[in-house]
Amino acid sequence: MPILRVALMSLLAGLVGCGSIAKPKVEPALTRHAFEHDAMGATFRIVLYGADEPSAKAAADAGFDRIHALNAVLSDYDRASELSKLSDTAGSGRWVRVSDDLWKVMRSSHELSVKSGGAFDITVGPVVQLWRWARRNRQMPSAERLAAATSAVGYEKIEYDEAKQSVKLTAPNMRLDVGAIGKGYACAEAMNLLKERGFNRAMIDCGSSTVVGDAPPGRKGWRIGIASLNPRETPPSKYVVLANGGVCTSGDAWQFIELDGQRYSHIVDPKTGLGLTDHSSVTVVTPQGILADGISTAISVLGPQKGLEFVEQFKGAAAFIVRKPGDEIEIYESKRVKDLVIDAPKE
Ligand code: ADP
Ligand code: MG
Repeated sequence: MPILRVALMSLLAGLVGCGSIAKPKVEPALTRHAFEHDAMGATFRIVLYGADEPSAKAAADAGFDRIHALNAVLSDYDRASELSKLSDTAGSGRWVRVSDDLWKVMRSSHELSVKSGGAFDITVGPVVQLWRWARRNRQMPSAERLAAATSAVGYEKIEYDEAKQSVKLTAPNMRLDVGAIGKGYACAEAMNLLKERGFNRAMIDCGSSTVVGDAPPGRKGWRIGIASLNPRETPPSKYVVLANGGVCTSGDAWQFIELDGQRYSHIVDPKTGLGLTDHSSVTVVTPQGILADGISTAISVLGPQKGLEFVEQFKGAAAFIVRKPGDEIEIYESKRVKDLVIDAPKE
């Protein structure tokens, strides 16, 4: 008898359990909160869904604080940043132990350099600085200065010691510039922080890079416009619908220099030191926020054919390329674009 009673009781307990599963789960009403903040030479925007404004604001502020802290590590404008101080040791023969953040950014950059055959390269610092000078002075850099700057470029001139989390810049005059990956990393890190605080339904963007968490309530994903070649005049005609991933656009729409009738992008070919001259916009979608930023820059340099092969090396990644090398617009799509991209709704 006792056995039967135990069996009966557990059956009843099971039924009670079943009853509670069948009840609809009551989620607290989530409202949309949006915040903006200027950092890293860009405006960062955080949109998140939460139960109340004060906790949403506290989480967004923590995200912005994290971005500021990363700027102090990664900025190449700030001579006192960890990155700038590391560049100051170039050619000295010294190994330098770096912070977790700088290590992660440099290791991801190294992976991108190896996979892109050097199209992506954070040692482009001297060349980028020369082009900044050219932009300020409206003057083409001389062939000698370009050659000198380019000779200090090369990702293989950085040595890594995994065990000591240390790096050595082996050639003199090297300067690191993580402008093509830093904002994507900052967005991804701020998103991690929002998630730690329970704000999983969130989005953070800084113009070129967007990182998203879980979808807004009742939706499949966040809708992110794919920038056209002239985003000032033409709104996006296509959108990415995404949850938990990153989207980034690289191109010459916002930052370029025009010299002697030729337009040069702020993205340079590390091999020649020249700013890209093909008018293009490359949008990349990845499951990890940090990589989309670097991949889109690499594809800009690689061009469409090699770029589409390159993107397939990254699990779940997709690339959408719009180019106008002459008078005609060309569009290229990698395999996974069809699963992620929708047309803009008709007016
Ligand atoms: P944005 O900063 O407008 O989002 P990108 O992510 O493409 O655009 O980054 C461009 C910046 O990256 C440049 O301003 C420069 O600092 C740096 N850079 C330029 N060319 C390269 C390259 N080939 N590899 C890595 N970084 C680059
Ligand atoms: Mg980039």
